[in-house]
Amino acid sequence: MSRSSTSRNGHERVTLADLQGEDAPDGVAAFASVAAGAVGGGSALDAKVLVLNKLYVAVRVISARRAFCLLTKSLAEVIHVDEGQYISYDFESWTEISELQQQFEHEKHDWVRTVRLDIAVPKVIRLLGYDRLPDQRVKLNRRNLFARDRNRCQYCGKYFPTNELSIDHVTPRAQGGQDTWENLVCACVRCNAKKGGRTPEQAHMRLCKKPVRPKRNPQIAVRLGQDRYQSWKAFLDNAYWSVELR
Ligand SMILES: [Zn+2]
Repeated sequence: MSRSSTSRNGHERVTLADLQGEDAPDGVAAFASVAAGAVGGGSALDAKVLVLNKLYVAVRVISARRAFCLLTKSLAEVIHVDEGQYISYDFESWTEISELQQQFEHEKHDWVRTVRLDIAVPKVIRLLGYDRLPDQRVKLNRRNLFARDRNRCQYCGKYFPTNELSIDHVTPRAQGGQDTWENLVCACVRCNAKKGGRTPEQAHMRLCKKPVRPKRNPQIAVRLGQDRYQSWKAFLDNAYWSVELR
């Protein structure tokens, strides 16, 4: 967090380091002054917050803990979506409005309890000094691949726990198959063994569907299905959207 520097418009610049990795101890300290004596706030601090850059483009999902760090340092503002309208709040006004929210829409929010008051965990924040665009490509890794295929073996069509799935090269490496979204699928151990070092045609097996590169991080679908993250939708229909969950 200490890597931020001040930009010309007076806002501190947010660096990628502010958004990545584990919460830095000094960042936690910044919030600790607000959440001092937080009671049972552990799970609320782990709630997920969508981060927009200065241009309202979604760049990342972070923990509420990190979001509060950015807010208390005035590096970000809260974007509250209410009936299709966006309202922005700095941290101070957000804590004030929290008192009202607690009275009238308590069940809509996660709450962090401090000595003085309870603060609603924002769903969306906007970085004031960060205008970089997110990496547009979804990373090809095991986690994203399993999420794309929804833990379903692409040959027998059955669903398996992650530890019973393997990654299959549709066209085997030995036949020139690459490590690409289009050539990798989830397969159960049994189907993978049956297929061996052959193409589906050679093994007389059929893929459930043609593997493609996902347009957005497949893991986000999990949260979009939940009521409390509905306000994210307004910011997700964006070609730049690709978020890393941490
Ligand atoms: Zn299978």
